[in-house]
Amino acid sequence: MKIGFIGLGNMGGPMARNLAAAGHQVSGFDPVAADMDGIRPVTSAADAAEGADVVITMLPNGQILRSVAAQVIPAMRPGAVLCDCSTVDVDSARAVAADAAAAGLGALDAPVSGGTGGAAAGTLTFMVGGTPEAFAQVQPLFDIMGQKAVHCGAAGAGQAAKICNNMILGVTMIATCEAFALADKLGLDRQKMFDVVSTSSGYSWSMNAYCPAPGVGPQSPADNGYKPGFAAELMLKDLRLSQQAADGADADTPMGELATRLYGRFVENEDGRGRDFSAMLPRLAARGRG
Ligand code: NAD
Repeated sequence: MKIGFIGLGNMGGPMARNLAAAGHQVSGFDPVAADMDGIRPVTSAADAAEGADVVITMLPNGQILRSVAAQVIPAMRPGAVLCDCSTVDVDSARAVAADAAAAGLGALDAPVSGGTGGAAAGTLTFMVGGTPEAFAQVQPLFDIMGQKAVHCGAAGAGQAAKICNNMILGVTMIATCEAFALADKLGLDRQKMFDVVSTSSGYSWSMNAYCPAPGVGPQSPADNGYKPGFAAELMLKDLRLSQQAADGADADTPMGELATRLYGRFVENEDGRGRDFSAMLPRLAARGRG
């Protein structure tokens, strides 16, 4: 396939290189210099879109997505698919899909989980919103960049799935960290705490697969000085998107709201920036109740 790839950062770069390595013709654009191994560099988003069967975007936020989509949609050939893999707000995903449909194009919102490791290894999970036809057109590319693609529903459904998942993740990570901090103060050994909770009703991905306590459970960023992993500021971004969506949909998400406030304080007023989101444990463990 001819692919235009726009946004070749930490995630988009390796995703585009995997598509090129699998034999697809990839034209790539990023305003910042990127590793172009196997990718044909072009000098604008519109140039990347010209003649492409699928245009993939991997961008920082919904505002940038909207501005890139406005440049790309007029340059795409009818029947081609615009597939956004960034994490953005549901409204931007739906607006871009509507503009693409009006121009005779397919559109998908297809955010990912799996992080930079998954992008490099081609093991991402895609959660996808859009028409079944557009999903079928892009599926062979999802199979190269990832291990799983779930078609979640109409436009916006992929972003909805992503932010709901990550809202659960933010809340359970804080709950796991505050339970470790309480256990410390009660004199309970962290390993014993893990042994019990990981096989009891308090278990979760945050405890069992990504334990925030160093030296306990499987290898995780806690064992590497809380170097991300999944940075606290990215968790904050996703939690804010969940609260923006909850406001728009009149959904009551009190735990999501509190998690957003705690990560906001951690990143903006404390030492959370540049640390893994599981570094909420040393932050909570260092504090008392007052
Ligand atoms: P990044 O900042 O490394 O990459 C974004 C790229 O977009 C940069 O290279 C930037 O130069 C480029 N860009 C900015 N404006 C542009 C424009 N107008 N035209 C073309 N390119 C432009 O970010 P990332 O870590 O690759 O994340 C990308 C997206 O994936 C984000 O939405 C993020 O939330 C999501 N995501 C990231 C991770 C992760 O672990 N990093 C995991 C899941 C999802």
